[in-house]
Amino acid sequence: MIAEVIVDVSAYPIDRPFDYVVPEEMRSVIECGARVKVPFGPRKVVGYVTRLKQETDLANSKMKAIDELLDLEPVLSTELLAIAKIVARETLSYEIDALQVMLPAAMRAKYEKFITIVEPDAIIDEDLRNLMQGRTRIPLKQVTSSSLLKMIKNYVAQGIITVDNSVSQQTKVKKVRMIHIEDSSTLASLLDTIPSNAKKQLQLIQWMKDHAGKSMEASKVIEASGVQQAVLKTVIEKGAATESHEETYRDPGVSQLQEAQIPYELTEEQQLALDKVNAASTTNKAETFLLHGITGSGKTEVYLQAISHVLKQGKEAIVLVPEISLTPQMTARFQARFGGLVAVMHSGLSAGEKYDEWRKIHRKEVKVVVGARSAIFAPFENVGIIILDEEHESTYKQEDTPRYHARDVAIWRSESFHCPVVLGSATPSLESYARASKGVYTLLQLSKRAKNQQLPAVSVVDMREELKEGNRSMFSRQLADAMHIRLEKNEQIVLFLNKRGFSSFVLCRDCGTVVECPNCDISLTYHRANESLKCHYCGHEEKVPLVCPQCESEHIRFFGTGTQKAEEEIAKLFPTARVLRMDVDTTRQKGAHERILRQFSEGKADILLGTQMIAKGLDFPNITLVGVLAADTTLHLADFRAAEKTFQLMTQVSGRAGRHELAGEVFIQTYSPEHYAIELSKSQHYEPFYQLEMTARKQYGYPPFFYITLIQFSHEDLMKVVAFADKGTTFLKGSLSPETIVIGPAAAAISRVNNRYRYQCLIKYKKEPKLIDTLQQLIKMYRTDWIKEGLLMSVDVDPSTIY
Ligand code: ADP
Ligand code: ZN
Ligand code: ZN
Repeated sequence: MIAEVIVDVSAYPIDRPFDYVVPEEMRSVIECGARVKVPFGPRKVVGYVTRLKQETDLANSKMKAIDELLDLEPVLSTELLAIAKIVARETLSYEIDALQVMLPAAMRAKYEKFITIVEPDAIIDEDLRNLMQGRTRIPLKQVTSSSLLKMIKNYVAQGIITVDNSVSQQTKVKKVRMIHIEDSSTLASLLDTIPSNAKKQLQLIQWMKDHAGKSMEASKVIEASGVQQAVLKTVIEKGAATESHEETYRDPGVSQLQEAQIPYELTEEQQLALDKVNAASTTNKAETFLLHGITGSGKTEVYLQAISHVLKQGKEAIVLVPEISLTPQMTARFQARFGGLVAVMHSGLSAGEKYDEWRKIHRKEVKVVVGARSAIFAPFENVGIIILDEEHESTYKQEDTPRYHARDVAIWRSESFHCPVVLGSATPSLESYARASKGVYTLLQLSKRAKNQQLPAVSVVDMREELKEGNRSMFSRQLADAMHIRLEKNEQIVLFLNKRGFSSFVLCRDCGTVVECPNCDISLTYHRANESLKCHYCGHEEKVPLVCPQCESEHIRFFGTGTQKAEEEIAKLFPTARVLRMDVDTTRQKGAHERILRQFSEGKADILLGTQMIAKGLDFPNITLVGVLAADTTLHLADFRAAEKTFQLMTQVSGRAGRHELAGEVFIQTYSPEHYAIELSKSQHYEPFYQLEMTARKQYGYPPFFYITLIQFSHEDLMKVVAFADKGTTFLKGSLSPETIVIGPAAAAISRVNNRYRYQCLIKYKKEPKLIDTLQQLIKMYRTDWIKEGLLMSVDVDPSTIY
């Protein structure tokens, strides 16, 4: 028996299966989709069995045998193996990369040297003991001093330590620290012994009295009681509780946000949409629906009931949501409806948690997965429906190889399973809406809000007028007045600040110099917390200069409208308002999103101030006012989707207001009120925007009228990158059909990142049968020759941005 194996080596000549002999003892158990360890040249690598066969063209004597079978149960189904081939072909990536992207990171092979202490007692050296800290096995790379390395070498010679070059798997059993709180009388008598100035200890023991006799995780105790770890430790030493370490599964956090468990009675429009989707799943039809429903129209309720229908047939469901901000509320709704049948997969989970969730799916312990982009590869084998919520979101496109779009993968998988795909959005991508208009997708419309609430009244405020009238603040008078009214009525306010772009930089008011990154062609972003400037592209960080580096003027200061600045202005203008800020800085910690949302939903703040991440998903009854502080920031990006993105954002943000009984009001502040993307977001009507934007796309030759492929080149040497970009572009022009337009090469919008100069060329085409072939040839030239000269080249078919 022979196995075809795709090995874990991303290199050009290796992008094909290799034949290996299956040893006798593996023959009855090996299956396609299992991982194996195989010899490859001088190394051992992991590979994926993609085919089993009896014959080979190779002479048997030349063939090596599989070393080890890593999975008794294959990790990839034959369906996913086939999808990997499609992904590799369509995105022009290595098949191994397409296979790897389907598995949680924890399962991807890592190649590392480890040292293992066989006889711990024989290690007498203090430095080595310090390094090991009681562990018996660590990666060799953690040993950095040469004296230690020498010592280890000696121990190895004596057989006290072994070194193995292992394919490491970092999947461990998780343990939690449990706190067992004593009974209340013990706590009461303990309280008397605590000195009155030990306030935190008193606070904790008081808290424990309310939870006397209970056991809970240490982290929960700390969070709920609001004390530090050290305080907990002290009171445990004083006898307020005992602790233990217990094995557990990783819990990705069942949300506290609640949602009705019972299906709603559907509106007429919802019912119509549901019937069509159900008909497709009942008859096993691979049909793609575009569910175009205004914000609050009850799209999610349609998803939930369509899933119920599929589960009743014994099938599974994949639900994609765009990003972590959405996950807590979204997953709460799915968990409320389907309970333990739901697995959650998103980037906020640790590698171990992702692995655990993946295993639940793989073992079919769950029937529904709710997750971000990569959940599209969930290892279900009987999928009955695939749903992409907010289908227009650019996060569905992976920006690294393999550069796949989850929407495409969804459609490919639906063809394998003969099941429907539902793409949902209030503001569909132009591509999807165009396809629906042409009948390629089936259009389903929800034109009214589920509870018949009015869409909020939207006003556009011209900030140029404000400036003329002498108002230099970030808040127009109209918005400020509206905020005062809400604060008085105890209703909630959401303020949205689009931070993408150049929102907070340091500018010299005398000569106009903006402090830029020394490595990249972009201004540095100001961070108030440590008075520093950071580059979001390469990570460069420096202190804010005291004088202008150009003219030495002292009038150099931070300029802009970042969330931190907004928070300060709110404090000045509305001193009594309680504000929650939600941006990358306040949500770095795990679970922070959910904590902020929960606090807001519990009414612990009047104002939620945030970036993109609050634009979607928020659904709280008390929000009656939404303010967009600066709508322009996405409008002026050098990107053909700039208008589309702005319209989408404005519509999404506006949709946060007045979703329940209380009516909502929205103010959009802008310096370009006449732009159609802003003008039309007032009425939130998608159709007119679609028509205007299609005219523009047609005129400039962009999707959906043309397909585009973006080739990017980068090199440390400007002359070299220009030369290679020229070569590549000339090759493309010579090879592709005359109707295809090749634009460039031209410097990229950000012409230097991390000291590498960037050039790009753009291919526009309606129909180009030679595209994949030609690109493959280009990639071959790059991988065999150009790469050696320090060039980096990427090919992005159907890029989400050309910026
Ligand atoms: P969308 O996803 O389209 O923005 P949601 O599904 O979040 O809309 O629905 C908006 C609100 O309306 C939610 O609070 C939801 O619980 C409620 N809702 C949805 N469908 C119905 C219905 N048929 N009857 C009553 N309330 C509904
Ligand atoms: Zn200056
Ligand atoms: Zn930089």
